[in-house]
Amino acid sequence: MSQNNLLPYNTMRMSATTKGIIPIYSEQDVFEVLVEELSPLKIIGGGSNILITKDQDAYILKNEIKGIEVIDEDIDKVLIKVGAGENWHQLVMWAISHDLGGIENLALIPGCVGAAPMQNIGAYGIEQESVFHSLSAINLEAGTTRVFFKEDCKFGYRESIFKNEVKGKYFITHVNYILSKSHELNTKYGAINQKLEDLGITNPSIEDIANAVIEIRQSKLPDPKVIPNTGSFFKNPIVAISILEAIKVEYPEIVSYPVDDEKVKIPAAWLIQHAGYKGIRVGDAGTHKSHALVLVNYGNATGGEMLSFAKTIQEEVESKFGVRLIPEVNIW
Ligand code: FAD
Ligand code: NAP
Repeated sequence: MSQNNLLPYNTMRMSATTKGIIPIYSEQDVFEVLVEELSPLKIIGGGSNILITKDQDAYILKNEIKGIEVIDEDIDKVLIKVGAGENWHQLVMWAISHDLGGIENLALIPGCVGAAPMQNIGAYGIEQESVFHSLSAINLEAGTTRVFFKEDCKFGYRESIFKNEVKGKYFITHVNYILSKSHELNTKYGAINQKLEDLGITNPSIEDIANAVIEIRQSKLPDPKVIPNTGSFFKNPIVAISILEAIKVEYPEIVSYPVDDEKVKIPAAWLIQHAGYKGIRVGDAGTHKSHALVLVNYGNATGGEMLSFAKTIQEEVESKFGVRLIPEVNIW
């Protein structure tokens, strides 16, 4: 395997050649790549949200821009500037060690800070947009720097402008977040309350919340270092209430969460499980035995095999429930 292979750089452990993997430690490094006119360019952080299905006829920019800096503060809030190559979970730990709240529910999400705005990462009732202030990015075509404020990013449920209109066009170099000195805890997801109760914690701190989230995640999600995976493969579908009602005829016990007066969110894991695809393995591609939404590489599955397995799940779920699952992961 050549050092230009992506195998060590993606959590699904896919092997794929590239034209070169270039570490990026600063904005200047990006500009130097642009001066050399290397193309095409692709960006990778922790590789925890991509499924690589073929060799990449591209130069890969591996984001290594570090640094966490307080750039402003008042009596209640702190504005921080974070290098996009910082590890997300380490940022959460940094915030907790400085008694700064707002991202404790997002503990243990793999990957880099620069990818967090891409799909507006979220877990346990919090999305990064709730603390997002702005980001700096370099336009890879024009070679210019642009600041995106919250309203520019078009954040949605696992969505942003960077996954849509300007996909692949910008290298995010820094993200600015506003964290709180006083803490407003979010424990609306039942699993957190249950874990705190199990631990006998009645008046939790932000550290208690993060620890509860870490324990829950470690107990139900496969560690990519042990079983390669990219977390949730599909987004949880948001559907019209009429679709939910139709499914309820046969499955009155189906789980759902209201989004607004007309729509509900249905856990994709429930749909996959009830289509008969929990813990199923086809060759080395499969769904995890304790989490149907997590597609795993049991050994030597290729990207093509993983994708074909994902398509089978999509078709089975759609034919049984009339709901089309949309991949959350980026397919390369
Ligand atoms: P990568 O996989 O490296 O990149 C993802 C995409 O972003 C690619 O298209 C890439 O080109 C682009 N990109 C990366 N960095 C930049 C940059 N600096 N500038 C421009 N584009 C860039 N996600 C959640 O939302 N919530 C969860 O709870 C969650 N849990 C997970 C659990 C597990 C076990 C795993 C494996 C994944 C989980 N994920 C979750 C998905 C993943 O961790 C997040 O999407 C994370 O933000 C991806 O970061 P990354 O650095 O690995 O991105
Ligand atoms: P879970 O708790 O089994 O719940 C299943 C789904 O139902 C969740 O994905 C969640 O949607 C939704 N849900 C649960 N309680 C809810 C509530 N009180 N209000 C609104 N929606 C609710 O989920 P899980 O798979 O173990 O994951 C737990 C959390 O970690 C979720 O937030 C999930 O998104 C996140 N996670 C994400 C990934 C990823 O790769 N993206 C991987 C693992 C875990 P939401 O997804 O909208 O929260």
